[in-house]
This record gives sequence, structure tokens and C-alpha cells, in this order.
Amino acid sequence: MRRGERTPQRSCVACRQVRSKVDLLRIVRTPGGEVDVDPTGKAAGRGAYVCRDERCAQRAVEQKKLARALGVPVGEELLETIGRNLGCIGLGKRDAERVAGRGRVKPACT
Ligand SMILES: [Zn+2]
Repeated sequence: MRRGERTPQRSCVACRQVRSKVDLLRIVRTPGGEVDVDPTGKAAGRGAYVCRDERCAQRAVEQKKLARALGVPVGEELLETIGRNLGCIGLGKRDAERVAGRGRVKPACT
């Protein structure tokens, strides 16, 4: 990424809403073929993005949108990992509480 460029825009695989990268959670298919959450947004591999919202994460996994975007099967256990990341990474405390308050996600590190 070159300096001076605007924040890259990506769209959520679940709701297709275009947001700046920082508002999305990156899911990556690693070169080894595993699917993982990429909190830094910099891991090597093919990435797909979902909103930092449990409902979008759920749709992305259950409707196989993530699997399609990444080209590999995505198990529902990934939702747990996403949930942990939603609770604490990239969110201020207030945001984390808001996320926790409207869904099943419990912040893991507050
Ligand atoms: Zn979304």
C-alpha cells in the first residue's frame, strides 16, 4: 500500500456493503489451505471480509458465502473465532460492549 492513498474499500461477503477495511474483519485462507481470522489484515493468503457484526459473520458462514469467496469449506467453528475477534480486536471498549449487548458474542479480553 502506498502512502497517501485513501483507506482501501472492501465489501462484506454477507451483506455486500462497502466499507473501509478497518471496519471489516478479514478472514484469510492461508497458503496452507486453512481458514482463519486475520486481525491484522496482513496475513498472506486469499482474504474475504465481513462486517464486524455477528449477524454478518453468521450469514457469511451459514450461507457459505465465505466458503465461496475463499474457495474452501468453512466450518461453523470459525464463528467462534470470529466472535472472539469481534469482542476485542479493533473495537473500542464501548463498541465491544455494544457488540456484546446485542448478540451472543462475549468480549474475550475486556
Ligand atoms: Zn456485512
